[in-house]
Amino acid sequence: METEDIKPWLFEIEPLEGESLSHFLGRFRRANDLTPSGLGQAAELGGAIAYGGALPIARWEKFRFNPPPSRQQLESLAKVVGVDADRLEQMLPPTGVRMNLEPIRLCAACYVESPCHKIEWQFKETQGCQHHSLSLLSECPNCGARFKVPALWVDGWCHRCFTLFAEMANRQKTY
Ligand SMILES: [Zn+2]
Ligand SMILES: [Zn+2]
Repeated sequence: METEDIKPWLFEIEPLEGESLSHFLGRFRRANDLTPSGLGQAAELGGAIAYGGALPIARWEKFRFNPPPSRQQLESLAKVVGVDADRLEQMLPPTGVRMNLEPIRLCAACYVESPCHKIEWQFKETQGCQHHSLSLLSECPNCGARFKVPALWVDGWCHRCFTLFAEMANRQKTY
């Protein structure tokens, strides 16, 4: 099956600035009613993967980039999601930048402006939000629940106490 055969029934979505791959993949899957393995197989059906089978979407959604996504894998994904491979690469940590897989962190002030999880929040070197000069949240300030992986951020609220992410901004300390 050629890529052109499968693309017409897939909705494309625009990446947001700074958006992490996990958050983008979650949005794309929900727009297209795909499971992680379903999306991985769609990329495989695109015919761009010469070997190695389906893309490890579930791992990528947990920021498990060891080994990092290869150029070939990104180009396969690009064909399915309709976003350039170079743009997808910007959703990953740059080469040499180390990441914290957890806790998942949040600048609620950023989320108000653009509702997505930003990849830079997971860099080990990131101490706070440079745009707002605020510390990052690593748990819900109301109930203490850890944030879910960004691919599962559907409603923009704490999954336990339903406090809106947008309401958490006033709990961030100046940094
Ligand atoms: Zn911010
Ligand atoms: Zn909560």
